[in-house]
Amino acid sequence: MKHVIVGASAAGMAAAEAIRKRDPGAEIVILSNETHPPYYRPLIPYLIYNEKTGEDISRQARLTPSNLDLRLGVHATILDSKNHILAFELADSLSYDRLLIATGASPIRPNISGLDGPGVFTLRTWADAEGIAKVAKDAKHAVILGAGRIGMKSAFALRHLGIEVSIVELLDRIVPQQLDEESAAIFAHTVADAGIKIILGQTFKTVNYEGKKITSVTLNNGVELKADLVIAGVGVRANLELATSGGLRTQKGLLVNERLQTNDAHIFAAGDVVETKDIVSGDPIVSGIWTNAVEMGRIAGDNMAGGISNYNGAFSLLNAMELGGLPVVSVGEVQALPGDGVEIYTERKGQTYRKLVFYGNRLIGLILVGQIERAGIYQILIREKADVSALRHELLGHRFHYGHYLLSGPRKADQYFMAG
Ligand SMILES: Cc1cc2nc3c(=O)[nH]c(=O)nc-3n(C[C@H](O)[C@H](O)[C@H](O)COP(=O)(O)OP(=O)(O)OC[C@H]3O[C@@H](n4cnc5c(N)ncnc54)[C@H](O)[C@@H]3O)c2cc1C
Repeated sequence: MKHVIVGASAAGMAAAEAIRKRDPGAEIVILSNETHPPYYRPLIPYLIYNEKTGEDISRQARLTPSNLDLRLGVHATILDSKNHILAFELADSLSYDRLLIATGASPIRPNISGLDGPGVFTLRTWADAEGIAKVAKDAKHAVILGAGRIGMKSAFALRHLGIEVSIVELLDRIVPQQLDEESAAIFAHTVADAGIKIILGQTFKTVNYEGKKITSVTLNNGVELKADLVIAGVGVRANLELATSGGLRTQKGLLVNERLQTNDAHIFAAGDVVETKDIVSGDPIVSGIWTNAVEMGRIAGDNMAGGISNYNGAFSLLNAMELGGLPVVSVGEVQALPGDGVEIYTERKGQTYRKLVFYGNRLIGLILVGQIERAGIYQILIREKADVSALRHELLGHRFHYGHYLLSGPRKADQYFMAG
């Protein structure tokens, strides 16, 4: 059986590993249009200020299935699903028995005057980080559009190089998807302490140039900020071009069934390119989370090699990060408002914050700032849709542990733990 995988990142490499495990003799070709070897994408901001090397981020990816035909710098352009053929940019082609589309996502560039010019970067690839590092060497002022995960990580990286950094965010708080008002306020201090300027409720009107050199950014309110480097971090869009060329069904992402199979039985998909469902709300989502991509890759790969594994959906929000040395974990429905069965419990002590969101007898969301040790067990309760009514008291206390959960009845979580 010949397996072809497009995309050599979290989903593609996990799929290759799963195929190799089930079918040691299978032929596996894996294509990437990037020229760097597979690497752990969340760490690329550290390349900007040399905190990590390319070797570090490759090693950390732990994406190492053996006996692969890995082809770098190859862009798959056209899918002829009728004849099981994949065509490349350079007029070459490849046949397949089973195909995995793991093409991930690409940053969105809003339609703003000058935002497509030289000196404006997005941060998605190792090459992007190298490009930013090169320009950052001579930069004094950087302006970042978007105070989400990418914007914040970029800002801290550039501050490490001594660059004056401003972040411009349209909404009323930083990291608006992951944080609520209270936790955003805690991080606003951390960010200010790092010398990063935050401008809320604004966006770019234009990026201004002298010749090919950026000089400033003008905001919607007319304020002009000095700039010689600009980064746009306003979200990503699934890379669907290949899937669409093959007539596969797409919406926001590539549509798949529970086995991660597309509407063509020979073609599977995994990772950020897929439209799956939110495990908490059941709503359709396109996940942007490394561990979700790995899990989807494993399941798709197993199914491609003849297994029968199901994927039940992803957390639309499952994020752990550290900003200015302060850790935060957000999981599930962190923005839900109280009422209609939703109850919210919050507790703040200095730089430490805890928010638990309950819906009826279930825990559906969580933010932990500062002390994040119990995040894993909370996450299991959310994922399992566990009835926590008998545990409410322990959950709100600080000594809750897995034993409380086990003692409250027979548990699916035992299987979850045993599966590793
Ligand atoms: C700076 C940054 C920080 C992040 N931080 C976190 C974090 O803290 N936690 C977290 O969970 N997630 C984080 N993420 C998101 C995480 O990296 C992604 O969810 C994950 O990489 C998705 O994996 P994937 O395999 O689906 O796709 P991708 O990693 O996007 O890989 C897809 C690959 O396919 C290639 N490709 C696309 N089209 C073609 C084609 N036609 N032919 C050949 N190759 C093609 C792409 O170039 C790419 O190499 C971060 C991402 C970035 C950029």
